[in-house]
Amino acid sequence: MEKISHFIDGKIYSSSSSRTGPIFNPAIGQQIAEVELANKDTVKLAIESASKAFVKWSKTTPISRSRILSKYKELIIKNMNELAELVSKQHGKTIPDSKGSIQRGIEVIEYATGITSALKGEHSTSVGTNVDSHTLRQPLGVCAGITPFNFPAMVPMWMFPVAIACGNTFVLKPSEKDPSCPLKLAELAIEAGIPPGVLNVVNGDKEAVDTILEDKNVQAISFVGSTPIAEYVYHNGTKNNKRVQALGGAKNHMVIMPDADVEKTTDAIIGSAFGSAGERCMAISVAVCVGDKTKEKIKNNLLEKTEKLNVGPYTDEKNDFGPLNNKAHYEKVLGYIDSGEKEGAKLISDGRNFKLQGYENGYFVGPTIFDDVKANMKIYKEEIFGPVLSIVTTKTYDEALTLVNDHELGNGAAVFTRSGNIAKHFTENAKIGMIGVNVPIPVPVAYHSFGGWKRSLFGDHSIHGPDGVRFYTKLKTATVTWVEDNAGPEFTIPVLS
Ligand code: NAD
Repeated sequence: MEKISHFIDGKIYSSSSSRTGPIFNPAIGQQIAEVELANKDTVKLAIESASKAFVKWSKTTPISRSRILSKYKELIIKNMNELAELVSKQHGKTIPDSKGSIQRGIEVIEYATGITSALKGEHSTSVGTNVDSHTLRQPLGVCAGITPFNFPAMVPMWMFPVAIACGNTFVLKPSEKDPSCPLKLAELAIEAGIPPGVLNVVNGDKEAVDTILEDKNVQAISFVGSTPIAEYVYHNGTKNNKRVQALGGAKNHMVIMPDADVEKTTDAIIGSAFGSAGERCMAISVAVCVGDKTKEKIKNNLLEKTEKLNVGPYTDEKNDFGPLNNKAHYEKVLGYIDSGEKEGAKLISDGRNFKLQGYENGYFVGPTIFDDVKANMKIYKEEIFGPVLSIVTTKTYDEALTLVNDHELGNGAAVFTRSGNIAKHFTENAKIGMIGVNVPIPVPVAYHSFGGWKRSLFGDHSIHGPDGVRFYTKLKTATVTWVEDNAGPEFTIPVLS
């Protein structure tokens, strides 16, 4: 059976003393590989390699780093098919979906190649007589990234291209569920000319994460995953004086106004609720219909279109979405559907008994829709992270906005309407990090920053874009004069004039 290990100091690294974890093909429910789960020593080796590489890499000029990243981008484009296959095989999503996620990662690399502009400081002349002032943004040192199973290529690429473009070195701890694509990304980095030690990958679980949280040489941690672990990483990382950005889970609402275009809106719901089997932190999982008439129109159209969806393995191009990633998660999603039924929501499309010949042991759940969902139900309050949509009906727009704002998670939300006033009001008043106006999955492009509010993000920085540069650099301000006259010691706080 294939054994997957780590990538440290520019080469594959294997440790005979590691525990291992199984990797499954989720479409058939069978183990296809095993991954080494790094112990403390392996993680420390990666951090040491990154610390050593920092000395030289941080002094490499930004334009040189930018040129290397341009080559890296070209290599990723050249290897797109292989990378997408690695993602789909271990995650389960369709090939076009994997390619789309890699493309989003490539865009972050493109942004990072513009680091020469992003690192430019500010300059003020004559802050005093013959005195100037300027700012510098300097790298932090060793940064670490801890990433979830649902985007094994894109989420790591939200982090390390910006971090290393800023002059830092990086230790990536990807999800232990689908680790092959991140390893390939590290191999390609070496081929592009990124020096050994600048990007290391350690596979592992809690032991690896805790080692990162405790190691004094790690200066900053980017985390993306579920809310409880995001909170854990944020509290323990900051307790150890590290800079931490920890992005957590989501429960994204789409508010549908009576004037919304029914066809366009239902297509948007279907793609965003069921695409990638709902395993996206920007998936729409709650459709809030304003008014009973709106609900009836949307519901009927949704049911009609949902019946036509194709669910199956990534190897069959006609499929719209694939299985859930792993058995524990599959059982959890089924448990949520059972709980919704028990709590009195109306199950109008039931994906529980989905079966496909030849794939009976795969972790497939068909498109599932609950109507009459209430705010006190578990299926409304908690993130399900599967192809399960809740429909909630409100009498007014204000009631819909209150629902959005009262939810403890605040990653993304969308409003579908023809009214500019409603769209403006929603954008300004929703307590949410990323807003879509007639756009169901409002994922910011690479040169803007991605991040939620409330319990969807712990820390003060969003990821990639300008906030990524701020997160991965320290600000320094220099005040400079070259006047040679000596006026003698000054004992009060200097007032420059
Ligand atoms: P997860 O929280 O279980 O795992 C994320 C990472 O944390 C993995 O690398 C894992 O190895 C590690 N980890 C797991 N348990 C740990 C523990 N007890 N102690 C220390 N480390 C631990 O998340 P997941 O199941 O891999 O991914 C799905 C979640 O990620 C969903 O909640 C989804 O919303 C979220 N997500 C959020 C975003 C975002 O941008 N906000 C993006 C993608 C995914």
